[in-house]
Amino acid sequence: MADLVMPPCEHRPRPYDGPSRDEVLATRRAWVNPGIFTFYAEPLLLVEGHMQYLWDETGRRYLDLFAGIATVSCGHCHPKVVRVIQEQTATLQHTSTIYLHPNLGAYAEALAATLPQGLDVSYFVNSGSEANDLAILMARLYTGHFDVIALRNAYHGGSPSAQALTSLHTWKFPIPSSSGVHHVPCPDPYRSRYEGTPEQVGRACAEEIRDIIRFSTPGKVAALIAEPIQGVGGVTHGTPEYLQRAYEIVREHGGLCISDEVQTGFGRTGDHFWGFERFGVVPDMVTMAKGIGNGIPLGGVTTRRELAETMTRRVHFNTFGGNPVCMAAARAVLQVIQKEGLQENARVVGAHLKAGLEALATRHPLIGDVRGAGLMLGVELVRDRATREPASTETAAVLEAGREMGLLLGKGGLTGNVLRIKPPLCITRQDADFALEVLDRALTRVAGS
Ligand code: PMP
Repeated sequence: MADLVMPPCEHRPRPYDGPSRDEVLATRRAWVNPGIFTFYAEPLLLVEGHMQYLWDETGRRYLDLFAGIATVSCGHCHPKVVRVIQEQTATLQHTSTIYLHPNLGAYAEALAATLPQGLDVSYFVNSGSEANDLAILMARLYTGHFDVIALRNAYHGGSPSAQALTSLHTWKFPIPSSSGVHHVPCPDPYRSRYEGTPEQVGRACAEEIRDIIRFSTPGKVAALIAEPIQGVGGVTHGTPEYLQRAYEIVREHGGLCISDEVQTGFGRTGDHFWGFERFGVVPDMVTMAKGIGNGIPLGGVTTRRELAETMTRRVHFNTFGGNPVCMAAARAVLQVIQKEGLQENARVVGAHLKAGLEALATRHPLIGDVRGAGLMLGVELVRDRATREPASTETAAVLEAGREMGLLLGKGGLTGNVLRIKPPLCITRQDADFALEVLDRALTRVAGS
């Protein structure tokens, strides 16, 4: 077999002289909440990053196809973003929104320019969970209704209210979380109980929304919240018709439509800047986080002014939300995405990668389904293509084999049997070819073991 060669990279990592991996692991085990988990049987210590590459403490380089969980949109330590953060931090880091600072309004204005007209007023917070909490709050206040529809297999966050929206038993704790949330079937045709074409599955799933509103709510709802393409759930989505019908039904019953763009926003899906655009719908609210800041802790909700006005009925405050550093970083991220053509790169390199994955599927029976758009791709592994039995241990083994060969992948899905590919949007065609070669070898190895 030919040698495996990672595409060249001129960046040289600094020699690492920090604590050893064992020390880092021991300190973490001793002092950090054990619920904060790591990937890999032997957790990986990463000490430096440059664009699509990461380095461990030994100086070994990895191609990063998970991007800090679909977050590092421009690339690790993108020089422009770093410079802006450094300059703003050295000038004025924090005052809170009780004083004026030019960065807040300037970024909100730049963000509004990426969204359909009317979606132009933003509230910035620190995470995706907070953004979703806030969106649901505004929807309930504006409509005067309480019930919320979310999709099964969704992930909307880990805070108690966002956990109520999340629909994966593995991520839900037995606590009283926000009530009034109803989960409707996920329109993903691969694992649907409904038979027929993806369009037929989508229509049947949309009708479930009408039923749940009729049977489980007072007949009116506050909102539907949905990821256009489910991320943690394993890169699953329905047809455009599904989301269009879902939005219609919810609006017929007095509800607002919230698009959770935490993973799908900021050009990741290639053809569009926002995930909802792919499905031909216009939401009433857009929630965002992750890729908005390239790693800076930042989330937000953008909506119409009349909806945003609901927040003036009481006092609401977020200490760090919209701080000068995060706003400067986010503005730089937006400029980099636009000036460096990252959305177009996601489209072109994503299509190449997806075609390569589909070609692998013809040779590797472990691959049950390849799906997604742009640089948000999923590869579902199954033990048997007829029964679609999830190949969860095999997926973990592919991740391990990838790491050994210098490739970092993600995984997701309710049973952890979907490889999630969500790299920095700057990866090249050569990176994609390297990744495909590694996956080919990893799948061969895992199938043979
Ligand atoms: N929504 C989606 C679609 C997500 O993927 C996530 C995080 N995985 C969240 C919300 C929650 O974001 P955070 O972890 O920043 O709270």
